[in-house]
Amino acid sequence: MLRIIGGTVYDPANGIDGVVKDLCIADGRIVAEAALPAGARTIDASGMVVMPGGVDVHTHVAGGALNFARGLVPENQRAARKFLHGLDRRAGLGGMTPTTFATGYLYAGMGWTTVNEAAVPILSARHTHEELHDIPIVDKTSLVLMANNEFVLDLLEAGEIERARQVVAWLVWAAKAYGLKAVNPGGVEAWKWGKNANTLHAPIEGYNTVTPAQIIASLAGMADDLGLPHPVHLHCNNLGVPGNFATTIETMSVLQGHRAHLAHLQFHAYGGDDWSTMRSESARVAEAFSAQKNLTTDAGAVLFGDAVTITADGPWQHLLYQLTGRKWGNLDVENETGCGIVPYVYKDRNLVNAVQWAVGLELLLLIDDPWRIFLTTDHPNGGGFWRYPEIIHMLMNAEFRKEQVQKLPEKARGRILLPDLDREYTLSEIAIITSAGPARSLGLAEKGHLGVGAHADVAIYPIKPDHGLLFSYPRYVLKGGAIVVEEGDVRNVVDGREFIVHPACDDAIEEYIRPLFEKVYTMSFANYPVEMERLRHPEVIACGSTSA
Ligand SMILES: [Zn+2]
Repeated sequence: MLRIIGGTVYDPANGIDGVVKDLCIADGRIVAEAALPAGARTIDASGMVVMPGGVDVHTHVAGGALNFARGLVPENQRAARKFLHGLDRRAGLGGMTPTTFATGYLYAGMGWTTVNEAAVPILSARHTHEELHDIPIVDKTSLVLMANNEFVLDLLEAGEIERARQVVAWLVWAAKAYGLKAVNPGGVEAWKWGKNANTLHAPIEGYNTVTPAQIIASLAGMADDLGLPHPVHLHCNNLGVPGNFATTIETMSVLQGHRAHLAHLQFHAYGGDDWSTMRSESARVAEAFSAQKNLTTDAGAVLFGDAVTITADGPWQHLLYQLTGRKWGNLDVENETGCGIVPYVYKDRNLVNAVQWAVGLELLLLIDDPWRIFLTTDHPNGGGFWRYPEIIHMLMNAEFRKEQVQKLPEKARGRILLPDLDREYTLSEIAIITSAGPARSLGLAEKGHLGVGAHADVAIYPIKPDHGLLFSYPRYVLKGGAIVVEEGDVRNVVDGREFIVHPACDDAIEEYIRPLFEKVYTMSFANYPVEMERLRHPEVIACGSTSA
């Protein structure tokens, strides 16, 4: 039990915008004043900012693809020490794809207390959960890859939508996931024949009628029908390529009438006809997005420097490899999905990279409802998550941001909108894009706010005259009421929990899946679903009604 006194509280979900007030905590939750006995421990937060702990709506921190990336960039791992500030615990290794311990310490050390692992194949879900468990401190959710699953696509082709929904529900529970991820719908499947899916309304390779648009609308409808707390989480077709803004806007129209979360919008907002004419189309994307209130998104912002691109989007990764000549790895995940990895460096003198850097910030500044766009770098694709404070700095300080713009090549400055944008984020808006908004989008009702009953995940930052890197070194971070960071150091390590959903489905669907599975997969069916015992600290959310 403890009391945080005198802090300036930013709790936008409860309408509290910079009010000096005390917070009381007991049994891991925020409680009303009366419930706390006299003599409880006190943290004096006078002159400090108190916010709900950060929630990362889209990151890649665990599983087979991450391990593949770690192996692909051993030189990166050696950079560990510079990230870990001399932690003497089982610190793990840093670099762009930190090991599990380092991931937990780095997130908590910045004030983030919940992360959403955004891409899990069912086939490697068991491994992913082992790694998620191994990440200390933060709570986790995970999304299972579904837009290129051959069982589901075959049922869409056959017009068996209800059965497809049952299969999806079964697969979500088999993976012990929290929601549905769709990556380059149809394109990863087509990549198995060396093709892609570049247009939304043409049948994909290997199918007569199934189109990306159909996959997108179907999965969005299923997430709604199954009552999943988070809507379909969509990585649109044509990621990363010039002119893709048109596909992104078309995708939004396919999603009309559905909830959806558009992942890393920065990678989907480019104009131009080719690499030499690539320019920002953030204004048009922001306008279309703002008009469609059923959508949320995250920035997927890019920062100059090292990155490792990791995605299920195999065809895109192959193109990136061809463009850059860098190391490339590709994984085929049987009948479900794919995976590609290319280590990358974003350079400010590179025209394409300069446009990418600007577009992420532009979207954050142009989409004026902070409840619908959240702070991410699509870690480690656009840059390491531990660099979020750099982005916050640029969002809060227009003058500093414009100084950075001046460093870009003149040719790039003519292709972006950033030089003309004067908006500065308030602390309340920062609390929304880093915590309250993503928690709401994920449907985590006890996260992202500091009202009575909320999980006591709290970040306390010193106020500095210049906001600068305010969020780099929180004075205190509380996770579930435990003080994990004190005076900027990780002092206490607790286990995070995993939130998973159990959508209702007809038990008979397993008998439909089993013979198909035994025909096409290399592993045995009994070994496919992740057993509940594999999850050390699960919290199961039942959803949906039993099907008719
Ligand atoms: Zn991603």
